[in-house]
Amino acid sequence: MTEGDCAQVLIAGAGPVGLLTALALAQVGVEVLVIEAEGQLNDSPRAAQAQAERLGARVRFGHKLVGLARSAGGIRAELETPHGSRAVRAEWLIGADGARSTVRELLGLRFAGHTSPNRFVATNIDCDMAAYGYQPSNFICDPVHGGVVAQLDGQGLWRLTYRESAADPAERAGIELERRASQLA
Ligand SMILES: Cc1cc2nc3c(=O)[nH]c(=O)nc-3n(C[C@H](O)[C@H](O)[C@H](O)COP(=O)(O)OP(=O)(O)OC[C@H]3O[C@@H](n4cnc5c(N)ncnc54)[C@H](O)[C@@H]3O)c2cc1C
Repeated sequence: MTEGDCAQVLIAGAGPVGLLTALALAQVGVEVLVIEAEGQLNDSPRAAQAQAERLGARVRFGHKLVGLARSAGGIRAELETPHGSRAVRAEWLIGADGARSTVRELLGLRFAGHTSPNRFVATNIDCDMAAYGYQPSNFICDPVHGGVVAQLDGQGLWRLTYRESAADPAERAGIELERRASQLA
């Protein structure tokens, strides 16, 4: 394994939590290195978009944390990268690697809370929901038909998120969306 970068703070994960934390630390002069397993920022229909190059911190895409050990003065992280295995040393490690956190698993930490028995289906649809009486942002509280309907841009793109039983096969999601859309007409 090649010994690579050093940093004061190593952040695993370039999601909204990792990037915001990197920004806050960089703004007060902390030397930060962000590693992200994916090759680029996730642009699926989720919470946030960020411009990594404006962070003031180094960001390494395609760098996945796979191992962790204590070392003198901090930690030594093992990474899988497009160039092979690399090691990074840092005084501090922040695990911002999402719900299935590798950092959490490597540290043997529990994930407190519970898993919802429902599946939330988030879609972006090209349909002017305002024409059906929706406001730009709608949170629908209903035991059966609860969901979120929100305008994403001015060109007719809307977010439609609804809940269905996790017991239903995932392939049903498209069928259920079509059924709901047909009820709009
Ligand atoms: C379909 C969907 C729709 C959503 N819609 C909304 C919404 O409208 N509004 C809202 O507020 N929230 C929404 N959420 C929730 C929101 O996406 C999460 O709350 C938020 O992304 C959590 O941010 P995070 O930074 O903790 O984790 P994540 O966004 O999951 O980021 C973690 C990052 O760590 C990386 N990573 C994982 N393992 C490693 C590793 N070993 N080494 C290096 N990097 C690693 C991942 O590739 C990922 O980029 C939605 C979630 C989903 C799934």
